Amino acid sequence: MATKTNTIESVKQISYLAGALKAPQISDAATRLADQARDAGWSFEDYLAAVLEREVSARNASGAQLRIRAAGFPGRKTLEDFDWDAQAGSRPQIAALASGGFLTEARNVVLLGPPGTGKTHLAISLGIVAAQHGHRVLFATATDWVTRLTDAHRQGRLPNELARLRRYGLIIVDEVGYLPFEQDAANLFFQLVSSRYEHASLILTSNLPFSGWGGVFGDQAVAAAMIDRIVHHADVLTLKGASYRLRGRGIDSLPSIRTQNQAD
Ligand code: ADP
Ligand code: MG
Repeated sequence: MATKTNTIESVKQISYLAGALKAPQISDAATRLADQARDAGWSFEDYLAAVLEREVSARNASGAQLRIRAAGFPGRKTLEDFDWDAQAGSRPQIAALASGGFLTEARNVVLLGPPGTGKTHLAISLGIVAAQHGHRVLFATATDWVTRLTDAHRQGRLPNELARLRRYGLIIVDEVGYLPFEQDAANLFFQLVSSRYEHASLILTSNLPFSGWGGVFGDQAVAAAMIDRIVHHADVLTLKGASYRLRGRGIDSLPSIRTQNQAD
């Protein structure tokens, strides 16, 4: 039977050893769970598993927070914040995506629809899910991606940059179609899509239907080849309805873009 002095010595030793392992949760959990384990008659194995489990889940959670911070999201938007009344039709598909299976299969997600229908919100939410599932994520607008790729290309390090980006399980390209690309930029963007094809996931958002992408990329052939690779393994969701931003303001459509940008 362990004496009280022995127990105190053991607790001190656990605290020292947990520090040496850089596993602070082990020290806390070992003491916290010991009484519970004694009262409930846990086996040694059950107790050790419970203690280690605390350390692992704390590490996963802080890893996810680091990945979320590093992703460059323009804001924190979660699936819990999403009002499904506005997009009921997409709910089952998004719920399936939230399991994270698309990332391990290197599948893509394309979110189409008029402005304000929640494309960026859902892209960020799925990005957060990816970070929580242990994937590295990077978010940027299509224009920012093109700037980044153009810089890499000019400095002769495009292949390195594409290889580096392949280590990210998810890349989010927001707002394809807000600005048309120059021919060179369209080719660089095509290389990004090709380099990830069947390797790692992309999420793209656009206010244009695919039929409008030729205009964005300045070339129907480049656009067609790119769309082919994107949608080969993809979930394509078309969000509908009026802008969530304009809710309750007595404005239910944006006349200049409504007809032209209805995604099909
Ligand atoms: P889009 O990218 O389609 O233009 P956003 O995702 O940026 O639209 O949405 C515009 C704003 O409205 C954001 O603040 C977003 O969080 C919010 N929003 C859009 N749809 C919803 C929704 N269904 N539930 C909750 N917030 C929403
Ligand atoms: Mg948006």
